[in-house]
Amino acid sequence: MNNLTEHFASMVFDDKIMKEVLPKKIYASLKKTISEQAELDEEIAEAVAEAMKNWAIERGATHFTHWFQPLTGITAEKHDGFLSPAPNGRIIMNFSGKELIKGEPDASSFPSGGLRATFEARGYTAWDPTSYAFVKDHTLYIPTAFCSYGGEALDKKTPLLRSMDALNKQALRVLRLFGDNTTKRVIPFVGPEQEYFLIDENLYEKREDLIITGRTLFGASAPKGQQLDDHYFGAVSPKINAFWQDLNERLWKLGIMAKTEHNEVAPAQHELAPIYSIANVAADHNQLTMEIMKATATKHGLRCLLHEKPFDGLNGSGKHNNWSIGTDTGENLLSPGDHPSDNKRFLLFLCAIIKAVDDYQDLLRISVSSAGNDHRLGANEAPPAIISIFLGDRLTEVLNGVKTGKKTAENKRQKLNLGAEVLPEFAKDDSDRNRTSPFAFTGNKFEFRMLGSADSISCANVMINTAVAESLKVFADRLEKTDNFEKSLFKLLQETIIKHERIIFNGNGYSKEWVEEAQKRGLNNYPTTPDCLVHLTDEKNARLLLSHKVYTAAELKSRQECLIENYCNTVMIEASVMIDMAKKQILPSVLSYVNAMLKTIGYKKQFFGDVARRYETDTVTKLSNLSDEIFDRLEKLENHLNTANAFTDNFEKAFYIRDNILPSMSELRIPADQAELLTADKYWQLPTYTQMLFGNDR
Ligand code: ADP
Ligand code: MG
Repeated sequence: MNNLTEHFASMVFDDKIMKEVLPKKIYASLKKTISEQAELDEEIAEAVAEAMKNWAIERGATHFTHWFQPLTGITAEKHDGFLSPAPNGRIIMNFSGKELIKGEPDASSFPSGGLRATFEARGYTAWDPTSYAFVKDHTLYIPTAFCSYGGEALDKKTPLLRSMDALNKQALRVLRLFGDNTTKRVIPFVGPEQEYFLIDENLYEKREDLIITGRTLFGASAPKGQQLDDHYFGAVSPKINAFWQDLNERLWKLGIMAKTEHNEVAPAQHELAPIYSIANVAADHNQLTMEIMKATATKHGLRCLLHEKPFDGLNGSGKHNNWSIGTDTGENLLSPGDHPSDNKRFLLFLCAIIKAVDDYQDLLRISVSSAGNDHRLGANEAPPAIISIFLGDRLTEVLNGVKTGKKTAENKRQKLNLGAEVLPEFAKDDSDRNRTSPFAFTGNKFEFRMLGSADSISCANVMINTAVAESLKVFADRLEKTDNFEKSLFKLLQETIIKHERIIFNGNGYSKEWVEEAQKRGLNNYPTTPDCLVHLTDEKNARLLLSHKVYTAAELKSRQECLIENYCNTVMIEASVMIDMAKKQILPSVLSYVNAMLKTIGYKKQFFGDVARRYETDTVTKLSNLSDEIFDRLEKLENHLNTANAFTDNFEKAFYIRDNILPSMSELRIPADQAELLTADKYWQLPTYTQMLFGNDR
């Protein structure tokens, strides 16, 4: 692509295009509908659809699809042709306003966590005009929300949009208290950094575990791992470079600003960071990015692994969810700013976030929970399962100043009294050093680092938005009543800091001491998905999500059902694949090598007579013992699997899985990996870690 500015967003029906191709009046009312989040008038929809269709056809589209995000976590689409029959056996390309605003995919096969039983089987999709339509693979994609006919959200987008509304509503109340009467909308912005692995497709195709579960269930560690840290930001091979270039071009055409790419810490691991955008658009774009990464990798003879823990012993993959709130007038409300009143506002929003994260630690933990992510959180790896906030020393000192009402050294130096003068600009270096924190302030945004690489970012942002909306509501309720704003604000901040400072932790989040300290502070520690997921419907959590109209009670219950069912299914499938691989590949590999060794022993006996053959007999003995052990552990796992299958209650099943199946899987892996180290490569049927991670294309 020679001319980036020309190609950027060339496949997106964005504002610039709309302005160009829509009649002035239509464009104006569409813009109004979008900014006011109102319903689209049918006449306008008709005109927009016509323009959109013509634009899409020029870009090679023959079909259109409503594109949505069911609870599976991936996106769904149902393609329809533009083609319609016309008189005289002719055809015309047709796309009506109705087809643009509303679709009716058959909802019955999407997970609904029981919602369908209570409500209606049919569902419909509705255009989200704040996220632009685009053309990909000869199809016009229309981003939509997905609901049942009873109006229950069956997707991940609807609650996200609702949480954005809740945040907007409460944040506007607060801004008005500061005398801001111009801001019309407050918007959460998100920039998700995406980690992933790339491996050779020929190796991938030989691994049933990667194909079916996305991660390696067996495999001895390579002699070299990430100890040398020589992959991080390392030089990039031509093959990976070609992949990046192709990926960037595809993303850019779809208006996704992939900005930075680099090699990550683990070998074969990479990261992509887009430029941030409005939360719902960021969520759409992240889904698209993941899809396009996979497709592009395949085109380059590679496979893209999005699983949170594809390789044992190496860092897993996550997503850093950079989050901030800003106004429609372009102000970042998490920027300390250089005006005294901005400082107070900044401190209020900061305290709202501190309170939100402390009050709803469990919801944040739940929002990133999955069987895959359990291998990162709760294991000794970035970040821990305990939620805490990193603010950095300087900002912490500022808060201490507010708390004690005393002029601290920092306060004096900056002439600070509740930010009465100027808060320092928090340089990035100041704040971004601690990489172990799950929720870190990084200059003018927070970085929530617990998200899994494969997950949709919707749920995490739903929880952040809603929890912060609640803090702001409590603050606004109180401040709206006062006749001394300054004094009340100061008192409110002071009280909030005293009550919630336990959530602030600037130290090493991986250390054992922190786990103990966090327990003393009364912070939650939920290492696994079932541990935290039971709390989704706790009274306080339900009250939050229902009162801000983000979920209905039935929707919330359905999310819980889906998530726990998904956890059970994921692990059960992994266990079955393990059993299958152990029986069909691992044991046969070991046996064929033992067989070859025994033959050698026989030949040597004939040749040398009856003297000890230490190498051969030792190896054969060890491998025979290991294969027995593999067999025993495999049977044990099979028994647990059968027991788990009989559970009807999903939570009971999940706890059984956590306590029996996962440990049995780890146990089975040990002798298998030991056997791999004793078996000649030629006999080992599975590609090894060394081959996958250090193959000749990197
Ligand atoms: P890094 O964390 O790798 O040093 P940056 O902090 O510059 O890099 O950006 C990381 C991600 O944060 C990018 O996706 C970027 O677009 C996003 N980001 C930057 N500013 C904001 C903001 N105000 N709100 C939300 N996301 C942001
Ligand atoms: Mg970052």
